[in-house]
Amino acid sequence: MITIPANLQAVNMRIASACAAARRAPTTVTLLAVSKTWPASAVRAAAAAGQRAFGESYVQEALAKQAELAELALEWHFIGPLQSNKTRPVAEHFAWVHSVERLKIAERLSEQRPAHLPPLNVCVQVNVSGESSKSGCAPAAAPALCRAIAALPRLRLRGLMAIPEPGADDMEKSVLARRRFASLRALLADMNAAGLALDTLSMGMSHDLEDAIIEGATIVRIGTAIFGERKHS
Ligand SMILES: *Cc1c(COP(=O)(O)O)cnc(C)c1O
Repeated sequence: MITIPANLQAVNMRIASACAAARRAPTTVTLLAVSKTWPASAVRAAAAAGQRAFGESYVQEALAKQAELAELALEWHFIGPLQSNKTRPVAEHFAWVHSVERLKIAERLSEQRPAHLPPLNVCVQVNVSGESSKSGCAPAAAPALCRAIAALPRLRLRGLMAIPEPGADDMEKSVLARRRFASLRALLADMNAAGLALDTLSMGMSHDLEDAIIEGATIVRIGTAIFGERKHS
């Protein structure tokens, strides 16, 4: 746990260097600390070091942590696969959902978002890796899905999210990741040209945040580099 503040500082420095290399202001990239599988005490340690946004993939686990940390002003992002029977707690307890891939899920989130909360920020997850990945909507389906979601009253469509498939070796990994990230950025640009006002590219994890930032990431989702290797999932 004592390493979390140092790890966070190192990640923030990686982000700053990548922004400098890409000639981007560091304030254009938000660090989402992915705390899935880690206890509330780990989140508390990161929060004490100044981290505010946390990403979770499992609903029950996230709700338990949120209850334990209720006195902290944290921003919770849901980034995992979302089944329709789990949309209500997500609509009630999160500020963002990055992993919307079907209209049905978005409609439920909109219906279930409590009136006293601001609209739920959502990203559409896009499968930029073709057949090697199962999650995310097909790129060709993304514009219509985004238009439909943008019309839902209790959601605020912010942009796109992707998890590129792992590459074979380091060199290929980086080339492949850049290509996937670039295709997500191009898709977002197409949609903005078609009249949507999207400001978010959620892409980049511990091993490829530099590639993602060069290609325009506005949120990087970092777990391992902050909290350490996960024992499972
Ligand atoms: C677990 C997870 C991350 C964090 O990955 P690391 O490699 O640990 O940084 C990012 N995004 C999603 C969607 C995840 O499920």
